[in-house]
Amino acid sequence: MATSLDIAHKRTDAVEAGAPASTARRNLLGLTRDGLAAELRLHGMPEKQIRMRVGQLWNAIYNRGLTDFAKMTTLSKEMRTELGAAFTVARPEIVVEQKSVDGTRKWLLRLASDKAGIPGPEVETVYIPEEGRGTLCISSQVGCTLTCTFCHTGTQKLVRNLTAGEIVGQLLVARDALGEWPGSGRNSDDRLVTNIVMMGMGEPLYNFENVRDALDIVSDGEGLSLSKRRVTLSTSGVVPMIERAGNEIGSMLAISLHAVNDETRDKLVPLNKKYPIAELLDACRNYPGVSNARRITFEYVMLKGVNDSLADAKELVRLLKGIPAKINLIPFNPWPGSPYECSDWAQIEKFADVVNRAGYASPVRTPRGRDIMAACGQLKSETVKKSAAERLREEKAAQPSA
Ligand code: SAH
Ligand code: SF4
Repeated sequence: MATSLDIAHKRTDAVEAGAPASTARRNLLGLTRDGLAAELRLHGMPEKQIRMRVGQLWNAIYNRGLTDFAKMTTLSKEMRTELGAAFTVARPEIVVEQKSVDGTRKWLLRLASDKAGIPGPEVETVYIPEEGRGTLCISSQVGCTLTCTFCHTGTQKLVRNLTAGEIVGQLLVARDALGEWPGSGRNSDDRLVTNIVMMGMGEPLYNFENVRDALDIVSDGEGLSLSKRRVTLSTSGVVPMIERAGNEIGSMLAISLHAVNDETRDKLVPLNKKYPIAELLDACRNYPGVSNARRITFEYVMLKGVNDSLADAKELVRLLKGIPAKINLIPFNPWPGSPYECSDWAQIEKFADVVNRAGYASPVRTPRGRDIMAACGQLKSETVKKSAAERLREEKAAQPSA
């Protein structure tokens, strides 16, 4: 049957279930410059060479997007062979790529296998092209410990945190797939990925160090060069980590507010029972670097009959008074079995009017990629948390007998 969806399913050879862990080679992806230096030192590289080699490797990995040491021609031939034997710069592997009718792309990625060779868990990354910009929505965890009742990811238990390499790796995979590396004929004003939002699977502030290191790598001017002003970290409200995020990450901040009273927010975002609205907004007022030029985005999912009354809209405006804020109204994106309905369009418009009249511009986020379940809150992978013994048993059962 003809379908309006342009769905391209792609399975790379390298990710066949049960493929052995490549080798004991250490993956350099996601190491900070200091981490990379330490790794080379451990490898036995003379101290006087390290600074220069870190610079060369950084350029090759993050500026040129190379994955093969043999192509790193700024290194001597012997050095290429030596480093290639000891290290890799492997990215997560694309399991499936889907393309929405609106141009949104979603990649299901398989993370590296563990030491026993058991294939890694799966995670999703979404690319949203818009007029004049392209946003990559990156995941920070496989699953989530939190259980927001309107979010598909919230129905998937946390499997594990992503490493810094796996977080940066999502941007590298997107650039590979979009053909966006030097030599592709594109100049730097014509970038496809211009913005990053940490709004994929997981709660980024529950994987703080890895997210911090990954975003430092992403913004490094001699590598991927994506300024922190173009990176937005979204949190469901992990209050004790917000100040640290401002000081140590320094990206733009988005808060998943979604309700204007604790009773409703307790139901939608159960973390609210621990960190209620007043404490969350205090943390926002004190967010390091917040100003009218660096506003905090408040995300508000429109749920029919739950949080979408005009009284709610007025209360929202009242609550945010004094905080340099943007408001982002998100039409609820349904998923199989979701217990809510999206507010009627007329109601969203009336709600938006109240918010607009209070001085907040263009607040409704158009759903993108709904046909491929790539819109906000629709991401989920099939990976479930299993014990090591369970996984080993399954692997053995799946292996052909000799
Ligand atoms: N865990 C972080 C970031 C990921 S979710 C957080 O909660 O902020 C990115 C945004 O999508 C959040 O504002 C989230 O609340 C919202 N969202 C989740 N499920 C949704 C759904 N079904 N429809 C619309 N938005 C949703
Ligand atoms: Fe986790 Fe964010 Fe989904 Fe809540 S909305 S369950 S914090 S991913």
